[in-house]
Amino acid sequence: MFDIRQSRISDDPLANLWPDHPAGPSADHLARLIAATPADFALYFDVDGTLIDIAETPEQVTAPADLAGDLAALQRRLGGAVAVVTGRRLAEVEAILAPIRVIGSGMHGLEFLGVAETRHQAASAGAVGPEAWGTLLPRSLVDGVVRLAASIPGLRLEQKGPILTVHYREIPSVGARVEAALAVLLADHGDGYHLKTGRAVVELIPNGTSKGTAIARIMATAPFAGRRPIMIGDDHADEDAFAVARAAGGFGLTVAGEHFNRGDEPFRGAAHVRSWIAGLNAGLAQ
Ligand SMILES: [Mg+2]
Repeated sequence: MFDIRQSRISDDPLANLWPDHPAGPSADHLARLIAATPADFALYFDVDGTLIDIAETPEQVTAPADLAGDLAALQRRLGGAVAVVTGRRLAEVEAILAPIRVIGSGMHGLEFLGVAETRHQAASAGAVGPEAWGTLLPRSLVDGVVRLAASIPGLRLEQKGPILTVHYREIPSVGARVEAALAVLLADHGDGYHLKTGRAVVELIPNGTSKGTAIARIMATAPFAGRRPIMIGDDHADEDAFAVARAAGGFGLTVAGEHFNRGDEPFRGAAHVRSWIAGLNAGLAQ
């Protein structure tokens, strides 16, 4: 029987190139493919641990001098199809990457910048505007998390709209304990919320929004629509976006670090991603 999906796969010149490597092509191979047909690709980057090195606290990060210029050049050469997909607030990303015009999604799919409205908005929490975000966070959940953060010296609590983030990078030994305590709080008080672990961080996020919903919405808009999506990220939350990119015929490329550490990651760290971007720009300029 004719199967349209099989037909599409066999017609796809990229689909069978990496049958044994679900993570996709090597970074260098991918750069050559993009340089050959830039209008076929859209690039999506996580920020912390992917574009910039992770610091002791989120406020201490700095972007290397060349990064903003290299990203701006890449945006130009890919017809604008370069986005960030981050758990941070986009205002912070704009400050870190200034003066580049940031396009993409922040707060795990709750915020968007430079992305046209589509009919397919993120469900539930994603459809609630910033003015109503405060109403999403259950008071008893906030109280419990504040008490937890105060009970363990060195924990840092951050509220990003309706998202609660607990950072434990300064005391990594408490990670499992914090995650377990937050899971209990979530079970008792977290109606409509889920827990997402990351690199020295645990986040409580409204259901219905993720980096997967973020990238799906961006992918539906110009100039991203119709291009093969390449998502590059270093953390657990990026896996939702990898899945969406792969389902659309694209790739999710991992960056080595505390989360991805098998030794076969396409990128060895944020510095490797940055040098890859610089090399890709050089290839696109030829
Ligand atoms: Mg990251």
